[in-house]
Amino acid sequence: MTEIALKSVQKKFGADVYAVENLDLIIAKGEFLTLLGPSGCGKTTTLRMIAGLETLTSGEIHFNDKRIDQLAPGQRNVAMVFQNYALYPHLNVRGNLEYPLKKRGVPRDQRQTMVAATAKMLQIEELLDRRPRQLSGGQQQRVALGRAMIRDPAVFLFDEPLSNLDAQLRATMRAELVRLHLRLGKTMVYVTHDQLEAMTMSTRIAVMYKGRLQQIDTPAAIYSRPANRFVAGFVGTPTMNFVEGVFSDGASGLEFRSTLLPTIPVPGLSGAKAGMAADVGFRSEHVVLGQGAAQAEVSVIEALGHETLVLLTAGADEIAVRTRPDIALRVGEKVRFDAAIDQLHFFAKTDGNRIGG
Ligand code: ATP
Repeated sequence: MTEIALKSVQKKFGADVYAVENLDLIIAKGEFLTLLGPSGCGKTTTLRMIAGLETLTSGEIHFNDKRIDQLAPGQRNVAMVFQNYALYPHLNVRGNLEYPLKKRGVPRDQRQTMVAATAKMLQIEELLDRRPRQLSGGQQQRVALGRAMIRDPAVFLFDEPLSNLDAQLRATMRAELVRLHLRLGKTMVYVTHDQLEAMTMSTRIAVMYKGRLQQIDTPAAIYSRPANRFVAGFVGTPTMNFVEGVFSDGASGLEFRSTLLPTIPVPGLSGAKAGMAADVGFRSEHVVLGQGAAQAEVSVIEALGHETLVLLTAGADEIAVRTRPDIALRVGEKVRFDAAIDQLHFFAKTDGNRIGG
């Protein structure tokens, strides 16, 4: 099993574009770690540096105790699965699966056994004689996975492998990848901008933004204790609600005041002090309608079947609310609402960092 350690890794393109800046990251043995972030945040560059497809400007990458960043890709024992599958169009599925084995000089009968076992595991046995263009996107993706698996690499690297699939197939493939990870127990690094993929598959998520690591933690911790305003806004659908305000001294200690919400007592909030501007954040599932001192107008109602999303507007503020599907509301109606006081997050205006625990 392989631990991957990135030590002060930097990648510069040209004179002043840092694609990846000072990245320290330990990916544990057997972990499914997802690099999550918006387009251009440096996640693909990071993956390509681990694979050996991109050189480092500075820093080191180690697999267990061995430094590997100066080794050629073929010497790293990694397999990469790309968004565009990268199958050989002139070879049938069998030929595509066999290719890495042939290159390694594995004897024919052994190759056949390995192809049969891999095809069985991925349920593509009946496709072995077809060419890639005779396969659906999901089937092509399975073959690409098979071609990675058959080499029995120490590390699997995935670059947005599900992006080209439709929503239903994506959900199926997410579950399959989770099963595959459990079964193989290999270290896997997965790049995506899709927070749902990251939340559902990963043992831990590393959130990146503008070339910098923002937070690394379990999906549950990233969701419930985002380290900064960026992570809070990027993870979760609908996005977290934010209301601007300022801390001030009240009769019974520190308070947070905003134009929209009633005054929130925060006497023990470490790192907060009077005069500090901040955003208070709360998720749509922590808003209760029909009670509380805050008031807003219903502007959008989205009935999703199992739940209804309601968008409230109050001046410049918009508040998303998840409610039961049987709620009776009309667009334009004024409603009262409350945000659960034990589910609030505060982020400093200055640097966006989380305030308090
Ligand atoms: P995406 O999801 O769009 O692929 P990403 O998070 O994977 O985004 P990277 O592809 O790693 O981001 O790119 C990070 C930054 O480096 C971007 O600003 C990108 O424009 C820049 N970049 C990437 N490759 C090169 C290159 N070969 N030459 C110059 N700039 C590059």
